[in-house]
Amino acid sequence: LTSRLRPFTSTIFAEITELARRTGAVNLGQGFPDSDGPAAMLDVARRAISDGVNQYPPGAGEPALREAIAEHRRDRYGLDHDPADEVLVTVGATEALSASMLALLEPGDEVVLVEPYYDSYAVAVALAGGVRRTVGLTQGENHRFVLDIEGLRAAVGPKTRAIVVNSPHNPSGTVFTAAELDAIADVCRTHDLVAITDEVYEHLLFDGRAHTPLATLPGMAERTVSISSSGKTFSATGWKIGWACGPAELIGAVRAAKQFLTFVGGAPFQPAVAHALRHERGWADGLRDQLQGKRDRLSAGLADAGFDVLASEGTYFVCADVRPLGFDDGAEFCRALPERAGVAAIPVQVFCDNPEAVRHLVRFAFCKQDEVLDEAVRRLHKLR
Ligand code: PMP
Ligand code: GLN
Repeated sequence: LTSRLRPFTSTIFAEITELARRTGAVNLGQGFPDSDGPAAMLDVARRAISDGVNQYPPGAGEPALREAIAEHRRDRYGLDHDPADEVLVTVGATEALSASMLALLEPGDEVVLVEPYYDSYAVAVALAGGVRRTVGLTQGENHRFVLDIEGLRAAVGPKTRAIVVNSPHNPSGTVFTAAELDAIADVCRTHDLVAITDEVYEHLLFDGRAHTPLATLPGMAERTVSISSSGKTFSATGWKIGWACGPAELIGAVRAAKQFLTFVGGAPFQPAVAHALRHERGWADGLRDQLQGKRDRLSAGLADAGFDVLASEGTYFVCADVRPLGFDDGAEFCRALPERAGVAAIPVQVFCDNPEAVRHLVRFAFCKQDEVLDEAVRRLHKLR
């Protein structure tokens, strides 16, 4: 194994999911829903298989899907992408992220990540020979995470090429404010950076919040690779249909990398996701409303079990402080929790280069049936 990959041999999701399986724990670790996406979308995929949509699709993705992605971005955000060369279908957001790094970084180029950061970012940067710099999103007032804007400015130097922006944010559940997005855009313009946005939770914002793509800010469309995926929006995380949108020059570069990673992906799923983007936006709104209720249910349950619960403004996740229960290290807590209480969760510190600020936080996924959430809470009461 190369030195590039040696720090990344296992993922926290694999480790905790295996531990949950072995102990029969209720798994609120890895974020995936336990119910299916819209029935008509599933039917389109079934029919596509029966109708022989089983060979390589075009390199950039099925034209119908690229058109549906462009339409969705136009209707929802007023952004214009030419489906011919400004939209690329990828194997999940994960491939779009890795292909973006491989396409845009020279060895030694620096990339700014907001920590805690989704685990694949660091690996994608390392595989491309890049160097990561991190800036903190830490617990502020009102149980909300706030971006360290001064830290962001300080993290950018002459070798910085790009910044990864994930809002709604995994694992914190934070939705960046207009002021935070403005500050990020300002740094990108001032230092001529490429923004790589991870918008996989773009439909899952609560309490009436609306998603603002960074690309809609002044001067950002021409320097942003906007990445999203159908996994979260349509509860099909195993289909791995994602995409990247942006100016033709950037998307052409990402496509050059993507074609030698996977060439293409998931032919029969592509017309199904095209259908969903066009006709199932109401379904996605319903999912968001359901998830908001689940957030409330789990947050209240965790508080009742003795955790100090942070605000979740979007995503599948809520973070909680374990200190009121007499613990101070979230990683020790999560490694013991399946045996001790029959529940699995993810320590937030594993998403950090500087774990101190979030050492006491753990992440719970609430994208589960109500009975599953209730059973987890019932078990967590044993910790008292
Ligand atoms: N980014 C974030 C923030 C995520 O939480 C996930 C996990 N689903 C991904 C990217 C990966 O998305 P995909 O499954 O489409 O590759
Ligand atoms: N995105 C999901 C999470 O954060 C899981 C992804 C994975 O297992 N790699 O839980």
